[in-house]
Amino acid sequence: MAKYLDDIPLSGITRIRELMYSIQDPFRLDQGDVSFEAPDSVKQAIMRAVADGHTHYLQTNGLPKLRELLARKLRHQNRLPVEGPDEVLVTNGGIHGLYLLCQALLEPGDEVLVPDPEWPPAVSNLLTAHGVPIRYPLYETRGWRFDAAELAASITPRTRAIYVNSPNNPTGGVLTRQDLELVASLARERNLWVISDEAYEDVLFGDAEHLSIGSLEKMYPRTLSLFTFSKSYAMTGLRFGYLAVKDALLRERLTKLLFLTTSNVSSIVQFGAIGALQGSQDVVEQFRVELEARRDLFYDGIRTAAAGVLSGRPPLGAFYAFLKIEPGWLGESEVRSPKSEVRSPRSEVRSPKSGIGSPRADGLGRQSQSWAMAERLITQGRIGCIPGVDFGVCGEGYVRFCFARERAELAGALESMRGVFRGPKP
Ligand code: PMP
Repeated sequence: MAKYLDDIPLSGITRIRELMYSIQDPFRLDQGDVSFEAPDSVKQAIMRAVADGHTHYLQTNGLPKLRELLARKLRHQNRLPVEGPDEVLVTNGGIHGLYLLCQALLEPGDEVLVPDPEWPPAVSNLLTAHGVPIRYPLYETRGWRFDAAELAASITPRTRAIYVNSPNNPTGGVLTRQDLELVASLARERNLWVISDEAYEDVLFGDAEHLSIGSLEKMYPRTLSLFTFSKSYAMTGLRFGYLAVKDALLRERLTKLLFLTTSNVSSIVQFGAIGALQGSQDVVEQFRVELEARRDLFYDGIRTAAAGVLSGRPPLGAFYAFLKIEPGWLGESEVRSPKSEVRSPRSEVRSPKSGIGSPRADGLGRQSQSWAMAERLITQGRIGCIPGVDFGVCGEGYVRFCFARERAELAGALESMRGVFRGPKP
């Protein structure tokens, strides 16, 4: 197990984060963190918990009152038929929930269908549990949604689960009801689990709506739903997430893993989460409205600051601009990536169909346009961003910016970008 970990890719996001700390006055559009502060309901609940001496061990799966509130939220907001608080487990952020789910669910060699592009810890967590991620492409031309026939054709006798993430990080694509019905029917017909990552359930724009796949007919018992307060309540550093799981055996395993990895999630943070749920929910909508304004501001700016270089349609959800790099814009000499260490997760070697393996998608890191573009924007423009290939080979040729930053920071990044792209090509 120990040596096996040496081959698990660590996301480029963490490498870029290190690089950004060495840059003076950076524009931090690289990491997926909102600039808002957690609401007063959370801060006050945390301070009260400290003052009241809630500094001791708690129930492993979380405070009963908190799990009761979460069960109610899941029933009313997500329409999941959660019977009671026992079906809810509190985790140290969404990423911890994902780690636990993969460890509790997978046998070595079990295949899990994962979107490409996708938030890198999804693949790394599956690999860490000795699972085999099989990527299914998302297409920009389809609003960053999958092709139904292609998804169905990726299922083999070894497939154990389908991973869905809507709204998606990094593309902002939102799956339609029809897409989710299709996944649900495949899962029912082929007896598969669905891992549903709903980290961005509250970040949707325009007419787009969030639908939890576990609310579809007969889906709740086979859906492992993953949520976090990181984005909805601007609590990224506090680390609070939760899982909704019907299956009793899986829950027993998850409880063991929770105990072994945290004993319990921080007592103070759990009281903060109660504060979030009992306080006004207006803040969630206020964040969403402001994020939509920032999205529009950023895309308006890109149209002029990066004309002929970067392009894309504003996303329907999440808070990332996943922009296409105009082919040929970077000089030949710039497109090489000796330092980038873009390694193909082992599954991609046998990942079969379209997009993957094409010249634009060299998962081995040679000639990575997206790394070259990211390095240029960071070193010449102080603009943090993530190379698209870090999210999967289908992300090659794209670069991701987080627009959940202050408007002034976005404006500064756009101004700096204008300078970078006006300058001479190397
Ligand atoms: N899922 C997705 C798709 C994400 O982008 C993130 C955070 N970037 C998470 C889950 C987990 O977030 P956290 O661990 O902060 O709860």
